[in-house]
Formats: sequence, structure tokens, C-alpha cells
Amino acid sequence: MKIICIGRNYTDHIEELSNERPKEPVIFIKPDSAVLPKEQDFYRPEFSNDIHYEVELLVKIHKVGKHIAKEFAPNYYDEIGLGIDFTARDVQTQLKQKGLPWEKSKGFDGSAVIGKWVSKAQFENLENISFSLEKNGVQVQSGNSGLMLWKIDEIIAYVSQFFMLKKGDVIFTGTPAGVGPVQENDVLVGKIEQEVKLRTIIK
Ligand code: ZN
Repeated sequence: MKIICIGRNYTDHIEELSNERPKEPVIFIKPDSAVLPKEQDFYRPEFSNDIHYEVELLVKIHKVGKHIAKEFAPNYYDEIGLGIDFTARDVQTQLKQKGLPWEKSKGFDGSAVIGKWVSKAQFENLENISFSLEKNGVQVQSGNSGLMLWKIDEIIAYVSQFFMLKKGDVIFTGTPAGVGPVQENDVLVGKIEQEVKLRTIIK
């Protein structure tokens, strides 16, 4: 499986990192080795002193497809999830300054936390899903799928022009504002609506 991530998909997060608002979705990929095994603690890598959490809604692809039209995109996924796109912000900042690819800062081992999946049928409206992240019991991020610059079906249409989507692939749909650093013993808890979907302890 592969993990396809969308960057800069919420206006408030674009502003907090002083990024340019993109004309097309920003895409990057994490390898399957980036998945943090379920229930395991997250060990901060030695090459960074500034690991940030980014909570994101996830979509799991359940059917192979390429060049998928937006109106047919719903046929290609049936589960929604919650994840954390851990980012070595110091490394990413250096790479961005040099115009180099982001992989070292985004695709390292354990950088993709994937929480519990929920059938999409459980949501009345996929364009109104609220989600949040708490750090040590204090809410640090909250978002709603309705605030995405590119909605799920548009993301699938766009991404599938470049990458064939396969069963089991996961799309990280971007993070809202509030990203920030983690320290040893921090506890991150992510929720969709009010239900806990992921919990990670930082080591
Ligand atoms: Zn992200």
C-alpha cells in the first residue's frame, strides 16, 4: 500500500506556516514503512529536534482505479479514518528553502499514525465531519471536512491522474491550523466527532 498526503488543504494552516495558497493540491507520498504499528508508542527520530503533529482525516481506497472522475470517486472508498502526519519541521524547513523533496521530513519510520476506521455510511454528510486532536488533555487542533480547499472526491479525482489508486491505499487529506511540537511523554488523542479514534504516546 501507499500513503498519499495532501498538503495545504486548509486556509488557516496555510496562513500559520506563511505558505502560498496553492492553485492545485500539494501532494507527497509516504512509504508503507512509515505506518506506526497499531498501539505502539511514537519514538522521535534522532535527526530532528522539532517533530510536529498534524491531525488529518483519512480515506481508505477499496478498489483499483486511475483517472477517476469526481462523480465516481465515492465508489472507490468506503471508510474514513483519522491519522497523524508526523513531520520533522526543522528538516522540512531546510528542504523547502532549498527546493528539495520533503520525504526525509515526512516519510520516516512511524510518521504515519493510522487510527480506527469508520464506515462512511455512518456519516450523514462527508462534507461536515468534525475532528480534533488533544495533547495531554488540551485540545490543540480542530477541523471540519467542510473547510477543506479540495474535498475528498476532488482529491481522489486529482490524485488518480498521477497515481493509480489501489485497494488499501490511504489518503491523508491535510491538516487544519494548530500544528505544534511534541515532547517526551506527551499523549496525543484524536477524535472524529466526539469518539476517540487514535491515541499515541511520545517517547
Ligand atoms: Zn499533513
